[in-house]
Amino acid sequence: MKPTLNVVARPSAERPDLLKPRRRATPSVSVGGVMIGAAHPIVVQSMTNTDTADVASTFEQVAHLARAGSQIVRVTVNNEQAAAAVPGLVQRLADAGITAPIVGDFHYNGHKLLAAYPQTAAALAKFRINPGNVGTKHRDENFQTIVKIAVEHGKPVRIGVNWGSLDQDLLTQLMEENARAAEPVSARAVTIEAIVRSALQSAELAEATGMAHDAIILSAKTSNVRDLIDVYRELAARCDYPLHLGLTEAGMGMKGIVATAAGLSNVLNDGIGDTIRVSLTPEPGGDRALEVEVAQQVLQSLGLRAFSPQVTSCPGCGRTTSTFFQAMAKEIQAYLKERMLVWRGRYIGVEELEVAVMGCVVNGPGESKHANLGISLPGTFEEPVAPVFVDGALRTTLRGGHIVAEFTQILEEYVAQHYPEAT
Ligand code: SF4
Repeated sequence: MKPTLNVVARPSAERPDLLKPRRRATPSVSVGGVMIGAAHPIVVQSMTNTDTADVASTFEQVAHLARAGSQIVRVTVNNEQAAAAVPGLVQRLADAGITAPIVGDFHYNGHKLLAAYPQTAAALAKFRINPGNVGTKHRDENFQTIVKIAVEHGKPVRIGVNWGSLDQDLLTQLMEENARAAEPVSARAVTIEAIVRSALQSAELAEATGMAHDAIILSAKTSNVRDLIDVYRELAARCDYPLHLGLTEAGMGMKGIVATAAGLSNVLNDGIGDTIRVSLTPEPGGDRALEVEVAQQVLQSLGLRAFSPQVTSCPGCGRTTSTFFQAMAKEIQAYLKERMLVWRGRYIGVEELEVAVMGCVVNGPGESKHANLGISLPGTFEEPVAPVFVDGALRTTLRGGHIVAEFTQILEEYVAQHYPEAT
């Protein structure tokens, strides 16, 4: 491999917008002041896993998720205790300066709880209704009760279909129609159609009940990546409601993260999706905010939003026989994460900073030139020097035992000089 030294430097912020997918046109829906729709940045949201009736624990988790970057937080409202706790929770969050709107997640008894607790209806920023879980005998009636309460209180709704709780009457009806068809399609195709139709028919019923077109968000989640992609493409083609994306029950750890990224990226890259939630099963004692971090990273990796400086580093190979390069990449990543806690509020646009940490001269200088700041470490048998590039130009060459400290000092100076201070 030859060194790629002749690449023209191009700071990340100047990459043409043509590289971004064109967002599918939608109305804008206000969720407690957070705007969702094609005219707005894709919103990151998450959900608590505490008992909502336990206000202290739920407050702590909402605060933690919001600080991690969740712009909207959903809480379970599954019984009278939870419903009764919501107004106090929302007030406590407001008193603490936590402005992320709180959404109520309703299943089975939402129509009863919202009718019995009007202050809860007033305190929530949005209601999530699962049309597969609003009853069987009085399905439409219960659904309409929730919609009417939302209209009375001026709240939007998310009609959130989930394949695990899909309206079984609708699925059975479509399966029977398919069985009688001259050219039946697969059971998978019928299920996808049932998921999409459940969302669309419910939205139609909501509008017929008085809900404004621009107060409805749709989601249609599956736990299978290929199904997710097909469902959202179909839904996007058949309506203009803003779409909430998520791979439901994504799983734990690496599997959950990769499956989520694979599913959401395909859809987002088609310009589909206005808000996303990552549904990871936390490790015991794990950090719930990981789902927020993953959602942000998916959007940033696709170039759709910027949340934190990105470190480009090579995987290393036989040219880097020591662990020095790996340790340095890790140290710089950790340094950026820690400093972002301060920089975020102080410097406008610093989240777009790109840093390259490369293992040797083969791709080091070339990759470093693409970044705002880059360092190319000496590989095995190379001269023990580390050239540092700033906006594509060689700034200095570091050597000796303090390369990391000197590089982070250059980083600090760069940030202070290139990003205007917030007033
Ligand atoms: S050390 Fe990194 S940049 Fe150098 S050849 Fe190996 S992988 Fe490529």
